[in-house]
Amino acid sequence: MENRKYIFVIGGVMSGVGKGTSASSIGAILKARGYNVTAIKIDPYVNVDAGTMNPTEHGEVFVLDDGDETDQDMGNYERFIDITLSRESYMTTGRVYESVIHRERNLEYAGKCVQVVPHIPLEVIDRIVHASNKAKSEITLIEIGGTVGEYENVLFLEAIRMMKVKNPDDVLTVMVSYVPCPNKIGEMKTKPTQHAVRTVNGAGIQPDIIIARSEVPMDQKRKEKISMFCSVPEECVISAPDIETVYEIPQNFERDNLSKIILKKLHLKPKKSDLSDWEDLVKRVKESKKHKVKIGIVGKYFGTGDFVLSDAYISVIEAIKHAGFKLGSKAELDWINSEVFEKEPEKIEELSQYDGVLVPGGFGGRGIEGKIKAIQFCRENKIPYFGICYGMQLMVVEYARNVLGLQEAHTTEINSDTKHPIIDIMPEQKKHLEQKNYGGSMRLGAYDAILEKGTIAGAAYGKTKISERHRHRYEVNPKYVERIEKAGLVFSGKSPNGILMEIAELPKSEHPFFLGAQFHPEFKSSPLKSHPLFYEFVKASKARGEKK
Ligand code: GLN
Repeated sequence: MENRKYIFVIGGVMSGVGKGTSASSIGAILKARGYNVTAIKIDPYVNVDAGTMNPTEHGEVFVLDDGDETDQDMGNYERFIDITLSRESYMTTGRVYESVIHRERNLEYAGKCVQVVPHIPLEVIDRIVHASNKAKSEITLIEIGGTVGEYENVLFLEAIRMMKVKNPDDVLTVMVSYVPCPNKIGEMKTKPTQHAVRTVNGAGIQPDIIIARSEVPMDQKRKEKISMFCSVPEECVISAPDIETVYEIPQNFERDNLSKIILKKLHLKPKKSDLSDWEDLVKRVKESKKHKVKIGIVGKYFGTGDFVLSDAYISVIEAIKHAGFKLGSKAELDWINSEVFEKEPEKIEELSQYDGVLVPGGFGGRGIEGKIKAIQFCRENKIPYFGICYGMQLMVVEYARNVLGLQEAHTTEINSDTKHPIIDIMPEQKKHLEQKNYGGSMRLGAYDAILEKGTIAGAAYGKTKISERHRHRYEVNPKYVERIEKAGLVFSGKSPNGILMEIAELPKSEHPFFLGAQFHPEFKSSPLKSHPLFYEFVKASKARGEKK
């Protein structure tokens, strides 16, 4: 592992306080210093991937180019560091044990007793080194999910300890800890952080840097306290107060000289200093507040509240925001439960108040007729509409029903006996389903598509060959494509062999923006590079808002 440096990011006190965005921002500032950075996320649960977990409980399933179904933090890394990650960068306890057991069965341990310690941490280290070699990184960030003190992450902490013993100059540990400021007490309390550091000390690890997450900036006295009782120099206590936009974090960190401190500790020198992209971005974010675009997201939400939803759809939300930043408009999002339109059809009129409507990806039958009604309303009233994955499939179903007059048009995901299976499973996927191989039955990861010139999609991308990420089982049924196209819906993006429909749209002469993508464009949007389809959608929405 010579030449490579490793920064572990661990959580103190509690999770959910921005460990992922802190790690990603560290990546961004080190990249701005001229270093080749990659990132690894370790999730301590036993699931082999995140694909089998409910997004309303665990957050979005973020899909990589190679089809790996991972944690939403991987999205943060790609967005902040502007890198493309692969499955080697994602690790769960399930994956680690799976490969150790596989090796044991393969006689790779040469007759030794295979033990939880050291073999599990050694496998963790192997994976970290392998991912770093593959990415040819100079610095690798490794975020360990959860909080110190949990049983689940003990073996990963042991991996840090073992790496540090062997290469003390190449391994750094950053603890992201929460410093509460209870209303009644009115002062910041450092004790929980002190306890967290003691706990991790017990695992043989001393944090080098503490990022103190709090509602308000930390005062000098608290910094001194953390420094004294957690054994870190004062300049290594970084105050990370709540801020309006997460994209401000890199700049905030630099105000406390974080990249300089990290590089010095790793015996590296800054190669350059260029945070101008981020500075420009934050300026644009602040300016965009003056103008608002109102976007309605129609889905099957049931009393989960914005709190959970914002995690389940984080990439969609961020992609809308990115487009807004570029257009100088702040996107205001409303969550609309599609079931309402089923129970109270007159409520559909309420969609008129939005500048644009989006139906994101989804699975299953709940609220589906309400979504179709919403799509119809947007089509007929020329409200900009963007359908993603399920949102595209239902858009095609709506068109078949209401324009082609195929009243029974449906997706076989919901009605397998429908007379008009407009959306259907492809024969090769069917085999997987019959064998209950559900993971294998999805089209996952990056696939190429060829775009039609002169269409909205073609103009948006400005090229004819694109690559986008997928996560779905069903497709537009090739048997209906000709009829649908004759009725006016244009398939402006198709798979290179022409069989799979990737993008559907109405010509601009008929509708300002009525477009659906079978893939998930949100996975490839970043704050510095807004995704072309989101950009066109928000642009059309902005234009509607200005006309209203
Ligand atoms: N349920 C649909 C399918 O499996 C769409 C999936 C999605 O929106 N990600 O094809």
